[in-house]
Amino acid sequence: MAFKNITVAGAGVLGSQIAYQTALSGFKVTVYNHHVDTAQRRLTALKEDYQRDLGLSDEEFQAGMDNIVNITTDLKEAVQEADYVIEALPESLELKEKFYTELSEVAPEKTIFASNSSSFVPSQLVKYVDRPAKYLHMHFANKIWRFNVAEIMGTDQTDPAVYQEVVDFARQIKMVPIEVHKEQHGYVLNAVLMPLIGSAMQLWAKGVSDPHTIDKDWMISTNSPMGPFMILDMVGLRTPLQMENNLYAATHEEIHKQVADKLKAMVDAGHVGQESGQGFYHYPHPEFEDPSFLRA
Ligand code: NAD
Repeated sequence: MAFKNITVAGAGVLGSQIAYQTALSGFKVTVYNHHVDTAQRRLTALKEDYQRDLGLSDEEFQAGMDNIVNITTDLKEAVQEADYVIEALPESLELKEKFYTELSEVAPEKTIFASNSSSFVPSQLVKYVDRPAKYLHMHFANKIWRFNVAEIMGTDQTDPAVYQEVVDFARQIKMVPIEVHKEQHGYVLNAVLMPLIGSAMQLWAKGVSDPHTIDKDWMISTNSPMGPFMILDMVGLRTPLQMENNLYAATHEEIHKQVADKLKAMVDAGHVGQESGQGFYHYPHPEFEDPSFLRA
């Protein structure tokens, strides 16, 4: 079965991108989000990025928008035709448990479910679905039209034919499928990246050094184009905050609370990163664009 109708649950940072990229690639997309107007706003806001980075004309961008056939707060309505549901709801186990329990009740039998969760592994969430053979994870990177990888990871219960269909779908929406063959926290990219970001945030929370200095050291020493705090600003601070809260709940290690407290103060002040104009840097002309940034 080739997918035709795709439902994206959650139209935040990632969900809006997944929905639009899928619609632009010719699929009929339904968006489920608890606020219709914020979903609409997020989708519309992608126009500038797609036009700048992919050179889409107004008509081409609109053709993608026209394939978003419904935006709704009603889960049953959202999935009634769905071949495939991609979930991009906030990174909370409680919320995802509730969602998958409800989804299992209202989705047609044919529907395949995928989570875009960054920190949970499929065996943690598959417990809440009624169809383990049709459940897996499809994990995208922020700004999916440019950083176009999709990490695909199932459980030992995932039907190999379902896995292959999702690999094929990834190519159809112009992602490079990254097949992850064993369950791994953080898939491939985050398994490499998170220890770097986590260590950087701990150095900041402990007062060992400040974000700009940490970035400079990393960038000069490794000839890397970005430092960990530049990456955090690009990703947005809400997900890292949620992840540090989860880590604190799981380990009770004080350092995770210290990091979460510092991130929370920034999020509460509206300084959530690039998207809000301020995070660890100030946008649209961040300090690292200054030619002297790496020299002083
Ligand atoms: P986000 O907070 O930006 O978006 C979440 C969306 O869900 C919002 O639009 C919100 O209105 C909606 N929502 C919240 N509760 C809801 C509910 N009960 N019912 C319906 N809609 C609800 O989050 P995000 O950064 O897009 O992350 C979403 C998922 O994607 C997480 O699992 C995260 O781990 C993963 N992810 C995020 C990134 C990233 O860079 N931000 C990258 C890869 C994967």
